[in-house]
Amino acid sequence: MRSVRWSEGRACGVDIKPASAAAGHLDARLVVGADGRHSSIADQVGAQAYTHEPPLTFVYYSYWSGVPTQSPTYHMRPGQLILRWPTNDGLTCVYVGGRHSEFAEFRRDVEGNFMRSLDVIPGLRDELAAGRREERFRGAADLPNYYRTSFGDGWALVGDAGHHKDPTTGFGMSDAFASAELLATAADAALVGERPWEQALCEYQRRRDDATANGFRLTLSAASLDPLPAHLQRLYEAASTRPEAVTRLIGVLGGTTPLGDGFSRRFTAELAGSELAANANGSGPRHTLRSREVLREPGSLTGGSGQ
Ligand SMILES: Cc1cc2nc3c(=O)[nH]c(=O)nc-3n(C[C@H](O)[C@H](O)[C@H](O)COP(=O)(O)OP(=O)(O)OC[C@H]3O[C@@H](n4cnc5c(N)ncnc54)[C@H](O)[C@@H]3O)c2cc1C
Repeated sequence: MRSVRWSEGRACGVDIKPASAAAGHLDARLVVGADGRHSSIADQVGAQAYTHEPPLTFVYYSYWSGVPTQSPTYHMRPGQLILRWPTNDGLTCVYVGGRHSEFAEFRRDVEGNFMRSLDVIPGLRDELAAGRREERFRGAADLPNYYRTSFGDGWALVGDAGHHKDPTTGFGMSDAFASAELLATAADAALVGERPWEQALCEYQRRRDDATANGFRLTLSAASLDPLPAHLQRLYEAASTRPEAVTRLIGVLGGTTPLGDGFSRRFTAELAGSELAANANGSGPRHTLRSREVLREPGSLTGGSGQ
């Protein structure tokens, strides 16, 4: 796609130049910008951000073969995020994130700083040393957090083009698919004449914003990489002793489990109960988890919607 075509102030198609064909154009009743966070369609239609927070983190990642541990792990430390997860072809992806303010210093010695960062996780560096790095380190620091006006005369934006957030949580893909579904529903209503275009697309943007608001807040909070509040620390420590709780919370961070399920009253109360029981028989951690405390913090993260 090269440029948006206009007719009487309304987007009406795109000029294209496919790699293996001559330049041409496509006519369209709706031009959809699904071209990511550097969207040229957003630029061309003049879409303005109405919520904007500067980048909070930078990230480097690469892929290793021959890593013994095949389970995903998520380690958050003040100022650091280290993720490890198995992926295709027997490879393990390792992701190191840090505060955006430290990006310039980190990139002066990417490999050295990356490997040293792993030392906070006992055994991880040795595991990678036992395997082999199969790709170069890839990095990103242009990770703003925004909502852009995502509709106008003859155009709409989906996915990162319209709304982007830091990848410290993994909501991006789920939210991109969800916004595409919402837009498809809205465009269908307009195309069959059930609703005027403007009303249908306005509703699309409103529903997208509602659906992503809690994840956006959670992401901004997580991506600050600040020390966890004591009650959240206790929640995660209690969860770490229960594999099904870990799965559920990683699902929340990855956008595959609804936030309300991960921080529901019943779930956090169960965690509180299991930890108290573990303390009573001497096998649990020394701290005490109080369900009232645990409930308050996720409530504030999720805008009070953790039911
Ligand atoms: C380091 C990092 C880690 C991430 N980890 C996760 C994760 O674990 N889980 C998760 O859910 N999300 C993750 N995300 C976020 C996720 O990648 C994005 O939110 C998601 O890919 C957005 O999808 P999209 O289709 O909107 O945009 P994109 O995936 O960016 O796709 C846009 C496409 O448009 C194409 N394009 C651009 N311009 C043109 C043009 N002029 N003509 C034709 N095509 C064009 C691009 O080539 C690209 O293929 C991560 C992001 C980063 C940076």
